[in-house]
Amino acid sequence: MSIRQIKTIEELEKLTGKKFPKNERESITKILETMPVRLTDYLLELSKSSPAVAAQFLPNINELKEDGLKKPFSGVMKTGIPGLERMYIDRCIIMPSSQCPAYCRFCFRKFYLETVAMPMNYINIDRAIEYIKNDERLKGVLITGGDPLMDLKRLEYIIKNLRKIDHVQDIRIGTRSPMFDPERIDDDLVNMLLKYHDFEKMKPIEIAVHFNHSDEITKQSIAAVTKLTASPIQVYNQTVLLKGINDDPEILMDLFRKLHLLGVEIYCLYHCDPLNGIKHFRTSIQKGIEIKKYFRGGNATGRINPAYIIDTQIGKVEIGVDAHIEKREGDFVWIKTPYKLSTYTSVYKDFKLPAGQCKLDKDGYISIKYLDAK
Ligand code: SF4
Repeated sequence: MSIRQIKTIEELEKLTGKKFPKNERESITKILETMPVRLTDYLLELSKSSPAVAAQFLPNINELKEDGLKKPFSGVMKTGIPGLERMYIDRCIIMPSSQCPAYCRFCFRKFYLETVAMPMNYINIDRAIEYIKNDERLKGVLITGGDPLMDLKRLEYIIKNLRKIDHVQDIRIGTRSPMFDPERIDDDLVNMLLKYHDFEKMKPIEIAVHFNHSDEITKQSIAAVTKLTASPIQVYNQTVLLKGINDDPEILMDLFRKLHLLGVEIYCLYHCDPLNGIKHFRTSIQKGIEIKKYFRGGNATGRINPAYIIDTQIGKVEIGVDAHIEKREGDFVWIKTPYKLSTYTSVYKDFKLPAGQCKLDKDGYISIKYLDAK
């Protein structure tokens, strides 16, 4: 599958068939220079027939706005090893690649994709494995990125070495390849993963896929997903709530029902992060709560009931379950979280909560300030 890195507006127009108006051309050119636009041939074709797909992958002049945070939350808790992040006691994240076959315009890492070198050379991968080996509390590892399927040799090296660690149980791989580069999911990949998957020993490999709209469920993506779901590997879906694309319960229901029928677990609906240049994709939290209610309001089987998750600076919270909105302060909300300071100090001795962003209640639970959207 060819990957196209688009450098000029002329190339973008030729490939997509879209004509940008005069007053947008300068901005689109600037975006192409600073925030890489990358598409697969498969995605190019799909985006011609699906406005929902096009909006996720083609640049928009709103991306130049400074209307959110400069940096993603991810990376706030650093282990000191490039490409290894840890926010929680029992699990951590390895990011072997900073690239994806295509780039989503709402990506919380988009300012870093392509602009940073591969975060993990083999020396850093070995350091990460050693770190994990030395902390028996780490039971799970998520391999993400970028897309870890970009370099299968590197991916297998990581999995193989993680499997040598007794206390590591589940290894999860986060990838959007079944959606934007379905051919990447082939027998070789599945056979490689199955070498390290063992339910009897309670050492599974799991795959987290990412679909946002039912237009993404095509003959090709069905083949990719079912190659995985027909194997013993568990597959779960993560969807990002995106304004104008899927912020409608019926649209999400259509997507989730299809994924459910393909054997994919409907795991979560993520609130879109409050970063610069992606505000046009963000709904209010209230909108997410309403959508969540729809799924629990007799409209869907309990098997189609995604957790509604907000990623905050101190970790993920599930609104209405383990977290709630305490109060509103201008454009911000205060979210009461299930986290205590001790969670972080047990991992990072000198951990300090982000200044001016957190409050502790009398029982030690943390509330965090979060930028909402309209
Ligand atoms: S697949 Fe994930 S990491 Fe890659 S561009 Fe999309 S959101 Fe970002």
